[in-house]
Amino acid sequence: MMKPLIINNLEFAQEQQKLADSFAVSSLKRLAETLALHDKNTNPPTIYFELTGISSQFSHPSLHLRIKTKLPVICQRCLSEMLINLDLNFDYLITDTASNGIDENDEIDWLELNNEMDLLELIEDELLLAMPIAPVHEKNCSKLSMQSGENPNPFAMLKGKFK
Ligand SMILES: [Zn+2]
Repeated sequence: MMKPLIINNLEFAQEQQKLADSFAVSSLKRLAETLALHDKNTNPPTIYFELTGISSQFSHPSLHLRIKTKLPVICQRCLSEMLINLDLNFDYLITDTASNGIDENDEIDWLELNNEMDLLELIEDELLLAMPIAPVHEKNCSKLSMQSGENPNPFAMLKGKFK
């Protein structure tokens, strides 16, 4: 189990620190509950991350976070297991003032100055947001290949179910 990773986010940015590590997804309890995890996983899913402090970006100390992982979920169309490939990148500006007008810009993420920021919690929150609500195979879904590659009309499929 990964120990909590607590950082002073302002110091981390100002000193341009760098932290890269990996850990088993089972350390993130809320996320793990949403996944198709079972003992058969010979290689339990691993989460890789890289946190880079940048002393000044848009004239603010900021953090760049990269998260890379492959997570097993159940395809909602054919109900077999599939892997979601995630390679996520985030930039956060660190601020000590709650509102200064810029935070209405959706392009920019803000983190409040925090000398005890829980990095694992941030990673878990971002992964939970990035996970598709109803994952389906983009191609080679076994449910689709039965229908000679044609996209089934979802309403027709629904109708069939209620006959
Ligand atoms: Zn499928």
